[in-house]
Amino acid sequence: MESLGRTGHGRPGCPVGHVELADRVADFVSSRVMPREQVLDAGGEPAAAAMRGLQREARREGLWALPLPAELGGQGVALPEHAHLAEAEGASDHGPVALGSAPLLDVLMLQRHGSDRVRREYPARITAGEMSACYAMTEPGVPGTDPPAVRTRAVQQGDGSWQISGRKWFTSGAAGADLVTVLARTDGLAGDREGLSLLLVPTSASGFRVVRELPVMGAGGQWEIEFDHVTVPADHLLGDRGKALAVASERLQLGRALRCLRWLGQAQRAFGLMRERAAERTGARGVLLGEQQLVQRHVFEALLAIRTTRPLVHEAVARIHAGDEAHVEVGLAKVAAARMLQQVADAAIQIHGAEGLGPGTPLPALFRTGRAARILDGPDELHMTSVARRVLRLR
Ligand SMILES: Cc1cc2nc3c(=O)[nH]c(=O)nc-3n(C[C@H](O)[C@H](O)[C@H](O)COP(=O)(O)OP(=O)(O)OC[C@H]3O[C@@H](n4cnc5c(N)ncnc54)[C@H](O)[C@@H]3O)c2cc1C
Repeated sequence: MESLGRTGHGRPGCPVGHVELADRVADFVSSRVMPREQVLDAGGEPAAAAMRGLQREARREGLWALPLPAELGGQGVALPEHAHLAEAEGASDHGPVALGSAPLLDVLMLQRHGSDRVRREYPARITAGEMSACYAMTEPGVPGTDPPAVRTRAVQQGDGSWQISGRKWFTSGAAGADLVTVLARTDGLAGDREGLSLLLVPTSASGFRVVRELPVMGAGGQWEIEFDHVTVPADHLLGDRGKALAVASERLQLGRALRCLRWLGQAQRAFGLMRERAAERTGARGVLLGEQQLVQRHVFEALLAIRTTRPLVHEAVARIHAGDEAHVEVGLAKVAAARMLQQVADAAIQIHGAEGLGPGTPLPALFRTGRAARILDGPDELHMTSVARRVLRLR
Protein backbone atom coordinates (compact mmCIF):
# COMPACT_ATOMS: atom_id res chain seq x y z
CA MET A 1 0.00 0.00 0.00
CA GLU A 2 1.08 3.61 -0.65
CA SER A 3 3.01 4.77 2.40
CA LEU A 4 1.29 7.95 3.51
CA GLY A 5 2.22 9.38 6.91
CA ARG A 6 0.18 12.14 8.55
CA THR A 7 -0.21 14.41 5.55
CA GLY A 8 -0.32 11.56 3.09
CA HIS A 9 3.40 11.65 2.25
CA GLY A 10 5.72 8.78 1.62
CA ARG A 11 9.42 9.67 1.41
CA PRO A 12 10.51 7.89 -1.73
CA GLY A 13 14.10 8.78 -2.56
CA CYS A 14 14.53 11.04 0.47
CA PRO A 15 18.10 10.76 1.84
CA VAL A 16 18.01 8.90 5.16
CA GLY A 17 19.41 11.88 7.07
CA HIS A 18 16.53 14.05 5.92
CA VAL A 19 13.58 11.73 6.50
CA GLU A 20 13.14 12.96 10.06
CA LEU A 21 13.35 16.60 8.97
CA ALA A 22 10.84 15.97 6.15
CA ASP A 23 8.53 14.33 8.69
CA ARG A 24 8.82 17.35 10.99
CA VAL A 25 8.03 19.70 8.12
CA ALA A 26 5.04 17.54 7.09
CA ASP A 27 3.87 17.45 10.68
CA PHE A 28 4.13 21.22 11.04
CA VAL A 29 2.17 21.78 7.84
CA SER A 30 -0.57 19.28 8.69
CA SER A 31 -0.99 20.17 12.37
CA ARG A 32 -0.36 23.95 12.32
CA VAL A 33 -0.80 25.35 8.81
CA MET A 34 -3.69 23.30 7.44
CA PRO A 35 -6.05 24.03 10.34
CA ARG A 36 -5.53 27.76 9.69
CA GLU A 37 -5.98 27.61 5.92
CA GLN A 38 -9.46 29.15 5.93
CA VAL A 39 -8.26 32.21 7.83
CA LEU A 40 -5.16 32.45 5.66
CA ASP A 41 -7.20 32.10 2.45
CA ALA A 42 -9.58 34.88 3.47
CA GLY A 43 -6.76 37.46 3.46
CA GLY A 44 -6.65 40.80 5.29
CA GLU A 45 -5.22 41.50 8.74
CA PRO A 46 -6.51 38.24 10.35
CA ALA A 47 -4.59 36.26 7.71
CA ALA A 48 -1.46 38.36 8.19
CA ALA A 49 -1.66 37.88 11.98
CA ALA A 50 -2.16 34.11 11.59
CA MET A 51 0.83 33.94 9.25
CA ARG A 52 3.04 35.89 11.66
CA GLY A 53 2.06 33.43 14.39
CA LEU A 54 2.95 30.45 12.20
CA GLN A 55 6.29 32.00 11.29
CA ARG A 56 7.11 32.49 14.98
CA GLU A 57 6.26 28.84 15.63
CA ALA A 58 8.41 27.71 12.69
CA ARG A 59 11.38 29.69 14.04
CA ARG A 60 10.89 28.26 17.53
CA GLU A 61 10.90 24.74 16.16
CA GLY A 62 14.02 25.22 14.08
CA LEU A 63 12.16 24.86 10.78
CA TRP A 64 12.64 28.42 9.52
CA ALA A 65 14.28 29.20 6.15
CA LEU A 66 15.62 25.68 5.66
CA PRO A 67 16.87 26.06 2.04
CA LEU A 68 18.06 29.67 2.38
CA PRO A 69 21.84 30.28 2.36
CA ALA A 70 23.42 29.78 5.80
CA GLU A 71 25.58 32.92 5.42
CA LEU A 72 22.35 34.95 5.25
CA GLY A 73 20.75 33.34 8.28
CA GLY A 74 19.05 30.41 6.57
CA GLN A 75 19.81 26.75 7.27
CA GLY A 76 21.56 25.98 3.99
CA VAL A 77 19.75 22.73 3.12
CA ALA A 78 20.97 21.89 -0.39
CA LEU A 79 18.51 21.66 -3.27
CA PRO A 80 18.44 17.84 -3.68
CA GLU A 81 17.61 17.44 0.01
CA HIS A 82 15.28 20.42 0.05
CA ALA A 83 13.36 18.82 -2.82
CA HIS A 84 11.88 16.34 -0.34
CA LEU A 85 11.07 19.05 2.18
CA ALA A 86 9.47 21.17 -0.56
CA GLU A 87 7.05 18.39 -1.33
CA ALA A 88 6.09 18.18 2.34
CA GLU A 89 5.79 21.93 2.91
CA GLY A 90 3.94 22.42 -0.37
CA ALA A 91 1.02 20.23 0.71
CA SER A 92 -0.50 23.55 1.77
CA ASP A 93 -0.16 26.62 -0.45
CA HIS A 94 0.73 28.53 2.73
CA GLY A 95 3.48 26.13 3.84
CA PRO A 96 6.44 27.80 2.09
CA VAL A 97 5.60 31.26 3.48
CA ALA A 98 4.95 29.89 6.97
CA LEU A 99 8.31 28.10 6.95
CA GLY A 100 10.27 30.98 5.41
CA SER A 101 11.37 29.09 2.30
CA ALA A 102 9.19 31.01 -0.17
CA PRO A 103 11.76 33.82 -0.68
CA LEU A 104 14.44 31.40 -1.93
CA LEU A 105 14.16 32.58 -5.56
CA ASP A 106 14.32 36.27 -4.68
CA VAL A 107 17.19 35.83 -2.27
CA LEU A 108 19.28 33.79 -4.73
CA MET A 109 18.59 36.26 -7.53
CA LEU A 110 19.58 39.26 -5.40
CA GLN A 111 22.68 37.50 -4.04
CA ARG A 112 23.86 36.40 -7.48
CA HIS A 113 22.93 39.43 -9.55
CA GLY A 114 22.57 42.37 -7.16
CA SER A 115 25.10 45.20 -6.66
CA ASP A 116 27.14 45.35 -3.43
CA ARG A 117 24.50 47.63 -1.93
CA VAL A 118 21.60 45.39 -2.92
CA ARG A 119 23.40 42.37 -1.46
CA ARG A 120 24.15 44.26 1.72
CA GLU A 121 20.68 45.71 2.27
CA TYR A 122 18.15 43.09 1.28
CA PRO A 123 18.85 39.32 1.13
CA ALA A 124 19.57 38.82 4.85
CA ARG A 125 16.50 40.84 5.83
CA ILE A 126 14.32 38.87 3.40
CA THR A 127 15.71 35.63 4.80
CA ALA A 128 14.88 36.79 8.33
CA GLY A 129 11.31 37.52 7.26
CA GLU A 130 11.72 41.26 7.96
CA MET A 131 11.06 42.14 4.31
CA SER A 132 9.23 40.45 1.46
CA ALA A 133 9.72 40.59 -2.29
CA CYS A 134 7.71 39.82 -5.42
CA TYR A 135 8.47 39.47 -9.10
CA ALA A 136 6.68 41.30 -11.92
CA MET A 137 7.06 40.28 -15.56
CA THR A 138 3.52 39.78 -16.88
CA GLU A 139 1.59 42.80 -18.16
CA PRO A 140 -2.02 43.51 -19.07
CA GLY A 141 -2.59 43.44 -22.82
CA VAL A 142 0.79 41.79 -23.54
CA PRO A 143 1.29 38.01 -23.94
CA GLY A 144 3.20 36.80 -20.90
CA THR A 145 4.59 34.06 -23.13
CA ASP A 146 6.47 36.73 -25.11
CA PRO A 147 8.62 38.70 -22.62
CA PRO A 148 10.36 40.78 -25.34
CA ALA A 149 6.97 42.39 -26.00
CA VAL A 150 6.81 44.04 -22.54
CA ARG A 151 5.81 47.70 -22.60
CA THR A 152 7.19 48.77 -19.22
CA ARG A 153 10.14 51.06 -19.83
CA ALA A 154 13.03 52.20 -17.66
CA VAL A 155 14.99 55.26 -18.74
CA GLN A 156 18.36 56.12 -17.26
CA GLN A 157 18.62 59.66 -15.90
CA GLY A 158 21.65 61.96 -15.96
CA ASP A 159 22.65 60.91 -12.41
CA GLY A 160 22.51 57.21 -13.36
CA SER A 161 19.20 56.50 -11.63
CA TRP A 162 16.38 54.69 -13.47
CA GLN A 163 12.89 56.01 -14.05
CA ILE A 164 10.32 53.26 -14.58
CA SER A 165 6.84 53.53 -16.10
CA GLY A 166 4.40 50.74 -16.86
CA ARG A 167 1.87 48.30 -15.50
CA LYS A 168 2.17 44.67 -14.40
CA TRP A 169 -0.48 42.21 -13.39
CA PHE A 170 -0.89 38.82 -11.71
CA THR A 171 2.07 39.79 -9.55
CA SER A 172 1.85 37.32 -6.67
CA GLY A 173 2.04 38.89 -3.23
CA ALA A 174 2.57 42.45 -4.51
CA ALA A 175 0.22 44.16 -2.06
CA GLY A 176 2.23 43.19 1.02
CA ALA A 177 5.67 43.28 -0.58
CA ASP A 178 8.47 45.68 0.32
CA LEU A 179 10.36 45.06 -2.91
CA VAL A 180 9.34 44.23 -6.45
CA THR A 181 11.67 43.08 -9.21
CA VAL A 182 10.43 44.54 -12.50
CA LEU A 183 11.19 43.46 -16.05
CA ALA A 184 11.47 46.61 -18.18
CA ARG A 185 12.81 47.62 -21.56
CA THR A 186 15.89 49.79 -21.16
CA ASP A 187 17.24 49.58 -24.73
CA GLY A 188 16.25 48.44 -28.21
CA LEU A 189 12.78 48.00 -29.63
CA ALA A 190 9.68 46.02 -28.65
CA GLY A 191 10.28 42.42 -29.66
CA ASP A 192 14.09 42.49 -29.24
CA ARG A 193 15.36 39.78 -26.90
CA GLU A 194 18.22 42.05 -25.89
CA GLY A 195 17.58 45.38 -24.20
CA LEU A 196 15.43 44.09 -21.33
CA SER A 197 16.63 44.69 -17.77
CA LEU A 198 15.57 43.77 -14.25
CA LEU A 199 15.25 46.55 -11.70
CA LEU A 200 14.62 46.23 -7.99
CA VAL A 201 11.99 48.68 -6.75
CA PRO A 202 11.21 49.42 -3.09
CA THR A 203 7.40 49.60 -3.01
CA SER A 204 7.71 52.70 -0.80
CA ALA A 205 9.06 54.59 -3.85
CA SER A 206 6.96 57.50 -5.04
CA GLY A 207 4.84 56.55 -8.09
CA PHE A 208 4.41 52.88 -7.16
CA ARG A 209 0.76 51.93 -6.74
CA VAL A 210 -1.22 48.76 -6.15
CA VAL A 211 -4.11 49.12 -8.62
CA ARG A 212 -6.34 46.17 -7.70
CA GLU A 213 -6.48 42.56 -6.65
CA LEU A 214 -7.13 39.94 -9.35
CA PRO A 215 -8.86 36.94 -7.75
CA VAL A 216 -7.95 33.69 -9.50
CA MET A 217 -11.03 31.46 -9.51
CA GLY A 218 -12.08 33.25 -6.33
CA ALA A 219 -8.71 33.11 -4.54
CA GLY A 220 -6.76 36.23 -3.67
CA GLY A 221 -3.04 36.96 -3.71
CA GLN A 222 -2.50 38.27 -7.26
CA TRP A 223 -2.30 41.99 -7.93
CA GLU A 224 -2.14 44.58 -10.67
CA ILE A 225 0.48 47.24 -9.98
CA GLU A 226 1.55 50.48 -11.62
CA PHE A 227 4.86 52.30 -11.94
CA ASP A 228 4.32 55.97 -12.69
CA HIS A 229 7.78 57.47 -13.22
CA VAL A 230 9.17 55.51 -10.28
CA THR A 231 12.83 56.35 -9.66
CA VAL A 232 15.35 53.82 -8.32
CA PRO A 233 19.11 54.27 -7.84
CA ALA A 234 21.54 53.08 -10.52
CA ASP A 235 22.70 50.22 -8.31
CA HIS A 236 19.19 48.69 -8.20
CA LEU A 237 19.77 47.17 -11.63
CA LEU A 238 20.04 43.37 -11.31
CA GLY A 239 22.54 41.66 -13.59
CA ASP A 240 23.83 43.32 -16.74
CA ARG A 241 21.89 46.05 -18.49
CA GLY A 242 19.86 44.60 -21.36
CA LYS A 243 20.48 40.97 -20.34
CA ALA A 244 17.46 40.32 -18.15
CA LEU A 245 16.29 37.20 -19.94
CA ALA A 246 19.30 35.16 -18.81
CA VAL A 247 18.63 36.06 -15.16
CA ALA A 248 14.88 35.52 -15.58
CA SER A 249 15.44 32.12 -17.17
CA GLU A 250 17.74 31.00 -14.34
CA ARG A 251 15.12 32.11 -11.81
CA LEU A 252 12.22 30.55 -13.69
CA GLN A 253 13.90 27.17 -14.09
CA LEU A 254 14.44 26.76 -10.36
CA GLY A 255 11.05 28.32 -9.64
CA ARG A 256 9.27 25.84 -11.89
CA ALA A 257 11.04 22.89 -10.30
CA LEU A 258 10.12 24.08 -6.81
CA ARG A 259 6.52 24.59 -7.81
CA CYS A 260 6.39 21.06 -9.29
CA LEU A 261 7.59 19.68 -5.95
CA ARG A 262 4.89 21.59 -4.11
CA TRP A 263 2.27 20.37 -6.59
CA LEU A 264 3.40 16.81 -5.85
CA GLY A 265 2.74 17.52 -2.17
CA GLN A 266 -0.71 18.87 -2.97
CA ALA A 267 -1.57 15.96 -5.25
CA GLN A 268 -0.47 13.54 -2.55
CA ARG A 269 -2.79 15.36 -0.15
CA ALA A 270 -5.73 15.08 -2.57
CA PHE A 271 -4.87 11.42 -3.07
CA GLY A 272 -4.91 10.83 0.69
CA LEU A 273 -8.39 12.34 0.93
CA MET A 274 -9.58 10.26 -2.02
CA ARG A 275 -8.25 7.11 -0.46
CA GLU A 276 -9.95 7.82 2.86
CA ARG A 277 -13.24 8.51 1.14
CA ALA A 278 -13.06 5.37 -1.00
CA ALA A 279 -12.16 3.26 2.03
CA GLU A 280 -14.84 4.66 4.34
CA ARG A 281 -17.85 5.75 2.34
CA THR A 282 -20.64 3.31 1.61
CA GLY A 283 -22.57 4.01 -1.59
CA ALA A 284 -25.70 2.52 -3.14
CA ARG A 285 -26.86 -0.88 -1.79
CA GLY A 286 -24.31 -0.68 0.99
CA VAL A 287 -21.30 -1.19 -1.29
CA LEU A 288 -18.09 0.49 -0.18
CA LEU A 289 -17.01 3.10 -2.77
CA GLY A 290 -13.57 1.54 -2.94
CA GLU A 291 -15.17 -1.74 -4.05
CA GLN A 292 -16.50 -0.07 -7.23
CA GLN A 293 -14.22 -0.74 -10.15
CA LEU A 294 -14.72 2.72 -11.60
CA VAL A 295 -13.61 4.22 -8.29
CA GLN A 296 -10.62 1.85 -8.26
CA ARG A 297 -9.75 3.18 -11.68
CA HIS A 298 -9.68 6.77 -10.36
CA VAL A 299 -7.40 5.62 -7.55
CA PHE A 300 -5.12 3.76 -9.94
CA GLU A 301 -4.87 6.63 -12.44
CA ALA A 302 -4.20 9.15 -9.68
CA LEU A 303 -1.45 7.04 -8.14
CA LEU A 304 0.05 6.41 -11.57
CA ALA A 305 0.09 10.14 -12.30
CA ILE A 306 1.84 10.90 -8.99
CA ARG A 307 4.37 8.09 -9.27
CA THR A 308 5.28 8.82 -12.90
CA THR A 309 5.59 12.57 -12.32
CA ARG A 310 7.81 12.42 -9.23
CA PRO A 311 10.91 11.04 -11.00
CA LEU A 312 10.56 13.64 -13.78
CA VAL A 313 10.55 16.41 -11.20
CA HIS A 314 13.55 15.01 -9.32
CA GLU A 315 15.45 14.60 -12.58
CA ALA A 316 14.85 18.29 -13.33
CA VAL A 317 15.98 19.23 -9.81
CA ALA A 318 19.15 17.14 -10.16
CA ARG A 319 20.09 18.78 -13.46
CA ILE A 320 19.48 22.28 -12.11
CA HIS A 321 21.56 21.46 -9.05
CA ALA A 322 24.38 20.14 -11.22
CA GLY A 323 24.28 23.32 -13.33
CA ASP A 324 23.38 21.29 -16.43
CA GLU A 325 21.12 22.41 -19.26
CA ALA A 326 17.64 21.50 -17.98
CA HIS A 327 15.09 23.00 -20.38
CA VAL A 328 13.77 19.63 -21.57
CA GLU A 329 13.64 18.14 -18.06
CA VAL A 330 11.98 21.22 -16.53
CA GLY A 331 9.50 21.46 -19.41
CA LEU A 332 8.51 17.81 -19.07
CA ALA A 333 8.25 18.07 -15.29
CA LYS A 334 6.22 21.29 -15.37
CA VAL A 335 3.61 19.99 -17.82
CA ALA A 336 3.40 16.60 -16.09
CA ALA A 337 3.12 18.05 -12.58
CA ALA A 338 0.46 20.61 -13.49
CA ARG A 339 -1.62 17.97 -15.27
CA MET A 340 -1.12 15.54 -12.42
CA LEU A 341 -2.36 17.95 -9.76
CA GLN A 342 -5.40 18.89 -11.79
CA GLN A 343 -6.18 15.22 -12.55
CA VAL A 344 -5.72 13.96 -8.99
CA ALA A 345 -7.69 16.82 -7.42
CA ASP A 346 -10.45 16.32 -9.99
CA ALA A 347 -10.67 12.59 -9.27
CA ALA A 348 -10.73 13.24 -5.53
CA ILE A 349 -13.56 15.75 -5.99
CA GLN A 350 -15.48 13.23 -8.11
CA ILE A 351 -15.28 10.57 -5.43
CA HIS A 352 -16.45 13.06 -2.79
CA GLY A 353 -19.50 14.04 -4.86
CA ALA A 354 -21.01 17.45 -4.11
CA GLU A 355 -19.14 17.57 -0.81
CA GLY A 356 -15.92 17.72 -2.82
CA LEU A 357 -17.04 20.99 -4.38
CA GLY A 358 -18.16 22.55 -1.10
CA PRO A 359 -16.24 24.26 1.70
CA GLY A 360 -15.67 21.13 3.81
CA THR A 361 -12.45 19.91 2.14
CA PRO A 362 -9.39 21.59 0.60
CA LEU A 363 -10.18 19.93 -2.74
CA PRO A 364 -11.58 23.02 -4.52
CA ALA A 365 -8.40 24.92 -3.62
CA LEU A 366 -6.19 22.03 -4.77
CA PHE A 367 -8.09 21.84 -8.05
CA ARG A 368 -7.79 25.60 -8.52
CA THR A 369 -4.03 25.41 -7.99
CA GLY A 370 -3.84 22.58 -10.53
CA ARG A 371 -5.81 24.58 -13.08
CA ALA A 372 -3.72 27.70 -12.62
CA ALA A 373 -0.58 25.53 -12.75
CA ARG A 374 -1.23 24.86 -16.43
CA ILE A 375 -0.87 28.59 -17.17
CA LEU A 376 1.50 30.22 -14.67
CA ASP A 377 5.26 30.04 -15.19
CA GLY A 378 4.48 29.46 -18.88
CA PRO A 379 1.41 27.64 -20.17
CA ASP A 380 1.53 23.97 -21.18
CA GLU A 381 1.72 24.80 -24.88
CA LEU A 382 4.85 26.90 -24.44
CA HIS A 383 6.69 24.07 -22.69
CA MET A 384 5.49 21.48 -25.19
CA THR A 385 6.71 23.60 -28.10
CA SER A 386 9.98 24.41 -26.41
CA VAL A 387 10.72 20.75 -25.47
CA ALA A 388 9.74 19.46 -28.91
CA ARG A 389 11.89 22.05 -30.71
CA ARG A 390 14.89 21.14 -28.60
CA VAL A 391 14.37 17.42 -29.11
CA LEU A 392 13.93 17.95 -32.86
CA ARG A 393 16.94 20.31 -32.86
CA LEU A 394 14.92 23.06 -34.55
CA ARG A 395 16.07 26.65 -34.06
C1 LIG B 1 -1.90 32.26 -10.00
C2 LIG B 1 -0.98 33.01 -10.92
C3 LIG B 1 0.16 33.61 -10.39
C4 LIG B 1 1.01 34.34 -11.23
N1 LIG B 1 2.10 34.98 -10.66
C5 LIG B 1 2.87 35.77 -11.45
C6 LIG B 1 3.92 36.55 -10.87
O1 LIG B 1 4.17 36.52 -9.64
N2 LIG B 1 4.66 37.35 -11.69
C7 LIG B 1 4.42 37.42 -13.02
O2 LIG B 1 5.13 38.15 -13.71
N3 LIG B 1 3.43 36.70 -13.61
C8 LIG B 1 2.64 35.89 -12.85
N4 LIG B 1 1.61 35.19 -13.42
C9 LIG B 1 1.36 35.32 -14.84
C10 LIG B 1 1.81 34.08 -15.62
O3 LIG B 1 3.19 33.90 -15.56
C11 LIG B 1 1.29 34.24 -17.05
O4 LIG B 1 -0.13 34.14 -16.97
C12 LIG B 1 1.83 33.19 -18.00
O5 LIG B 1 3.20 33.40 -18.25
C13 LIG B 1 1.09 33.23 -19.36
O6 LIG B 1 1.02 34.52 -19.86
P1 LIG B 1 -0.39 35.14 -20.29
O7 LIG B 1 -1.37 34.90 -19.20
O8 LIG B 1 -0.18 36.54 -20.70
O9 LIG B 1 -0.87 34.25 -21.50
P2 LIG B 1 -0.60 34.48 -23.05
O10 LIG B 1 0.85 34.64 -23.33
O11 LIG B 1 -1.51 35.55 -23.53
O12 LIG B 1 -1.09 33.08 -23.63
C14 LIG B 1 -2.47 32.74 -23.61
C15 LIG B 1 -2.65 31.34 -24.15
O13 LIG B 1 -2.22 31.29 -25.50
C16 LIG B 1 -1.72 29.98 -25.78
N5 LIG B 1 -0.29 30.08 -26.19
C17 LIG B 1 0.62 30.97 -25.81
N6 LIG B 1 1.83 30.69 -26.38
C18 LIG B 1 1.65 29.60 -27.15
C19 LIG B 1 2.48 28.82 -28.00
N7 LIG B 1 3.79 29.10 -28.14
N8 LIG B 1 1.92 27.75 -28.63
C20 LIG B 1 0.61 27.47 -28.49
N9 LIG B 1 -0.22 28.16 -27.70
C21 LIG B 1 0.27 29.21 -27.04
C22 LIG B 1 -1.81 29.19 -24.49
O14 LIG B 1 -2.99 28.45 -24.49
C23 LIG B 1 -1.84 30.27 -23.43
O15 LIG B 1 -2.45 29.85 -22.21
C24 LIG B 1 0.74 34.44 -12.62
C25 LIG B 1 -0.39 33.80 -13.15
C26 LIG B 1 -1.25 33.10 -12.32
C27 LIG B 1 -2.46 32.46 -12.91
